[in-house]
Amino acid sequence: MKALKALTTALVSLSTVLANIPVKAEWAPKAVVDGVYAGIQHIHGYKATPRLIWDVAKGSPSRCGRVYGSLYCKLNHTVYITRQDIQMAYHFGDAALAYIVAHEYAHAMQTAYGFEPRITPISELQADCLAGVYLGLIPNIVFDERDTLEIASLAYHIGDYDWGSRHHHGTPEQRVKAVVLGMRSAVNGKSFAACRV
Ligand SMILES: [Zn+2]
Repeated sequence: MKALKALTTALVSLSTVLANIPVKAEWAPKAVVDGVYAGIQHIHGYKATPRLIWDVAKGSPSRCGRVYGSLYCKLNHTVYITRQDIQMAYHFGDAALAYIVAHEYAHAMQTAYGFEPRITPISELQADCLAGVYLGLIPNIVFDERDTLEIASLAYHIGDYDWGSRHHHGTPEQRVKAVVLGMRSAVNGKSFAACRV
């Protein structure tokens, strides 16, 4: 990730081979979490900012029960990012963590502004799309091609085929499409309208 903004952020096709992209420095988790949070707060004019608790150990108590994975708890308007998810994200790279943070922030905004879709996979895919828009729009961080690939790779990894389950968040293909749609919309000017359902 780079601390600059370029509106012409090129989106890479999924077929791009990682090895072809030069290695770059990765940000530490704290820099990613703080940077993404600050950027999204800025987008929302510092309104309705959810509280953030990150590096949460698995099974820690919260107002919404024990935390087993990163989540947004509406009961106390708080985003929880787990240590396990941070480690999982870094199998892909720093931008993958940025995507997780942006996704949970998106859930907070769905709730705060009352537009959360009632069907689980739809609200999850909308959060993915919104996360993509956030990452494309935040003024303090630039996501390059490798970052985009990291994000898409994590989105694919966390997709599932549990149709009918209330935990179904969307298939791998749907999750990649949703977050990439959001990132593209940040660049082509459609912005959040692209995530309307
Ligand atoms: Zn979610």
